[in-house]
Amino acid sequence: MVLTNFEIEKVNTPNFIKGRKGKKILAIVNHITAGLMPGTLSWMQNPAAKVSAHYLVTKTGKIYQLVDEEDTAFGAGIVNKPDWILYDGTNPNFYTLSIEHEALAGEALTDIQYQATLWLHRKIISQWGMPADHNHIIGHYRLDSVNRKNDPGPQFPWDKLMTDLKDADMPGQTINIKIGDQEIEGFILKNKAYAHARALSEAMSIDIKWDGERQSIFIYPTNFTSMESDDKINIYIGSKPITGILINDKAYVPVREMAESLGRKVTWDDEGKIVTIA
Ligand SMILES: [Zn+2]
Repeated sequence: MVLTNFEIEKVNTPNFIKGRKGKKILAIVNHITAGLMPGTLSWMQNPAAKVSAHYLVTKTGKIYQLVDEEDTAFGAGIVNKPDWILYDGTNPNFYTLSIEHEALAGEALTDIQYQATLWLHRKIISQWGMPADHNHIIGHYRLDSVNRKNDPGPQFPWDKLMTDLKDADMPGQTINIKIGDQEIEGFILKNKAYAHARALSEAMSIDIKWDGERQSIFIYPTNFTSMESDDKINIYIGSKPITGILINDKAYVPVREMAESLGRKVTWDDEGKIVTIA
């Protein structure tokens, strides 16, 4: 699946708090603006409004970022009859990221707006390690079921969003990986390039063995030494373990570490987002 890369334009707002009071980011809260551009953006930049969001996705698929993810936006501070298992009794703004969608009350997202928010969700959940489920991706109505019950409203495509996020082969920003005259796709996660284990090893003409029980990939000759659990996998090349990741039951490996362990030279072209394995 080829993902379109959308761009994020940073804009300012005075409506935020620096930092997150030490809380970890747990979830995305989706909203609709119940107003249109450009007024809906300028309202969130108005100090009198005392509202904001980390992101605003417009009907034309433009993504504005008003608040850094490490800072606290004023998205959903008032909690009223919540229905959210991760609510800890304190202001959810400190442990959520908020995405506003330009739409009038009851309106559906446009197609390009949906693609943009899907891309943004993918980027965020891969960055923060959030599962694509209804506990970690919620609507404002889950925090205030009384006054915000139509936010983001009945037309918000929850099922499609969850399905598309789970189907995603590659989270985050896509990159190309060149090996000789072959080219495969990869993605960036926490500043590392990853590729699908089988696609990469085939392109590098190496044999790998997947051991599901140990969640490990073996590249022979190898000495198995230890194992990790959960969503991580080990890649053994010789006796040196490399940590990869499992996403939707597919194994992804860090490209540079794997190629360098096999004695290959790796270069990164930041501008073109291309990894070359010589
Ligand atoms: Zn809202």
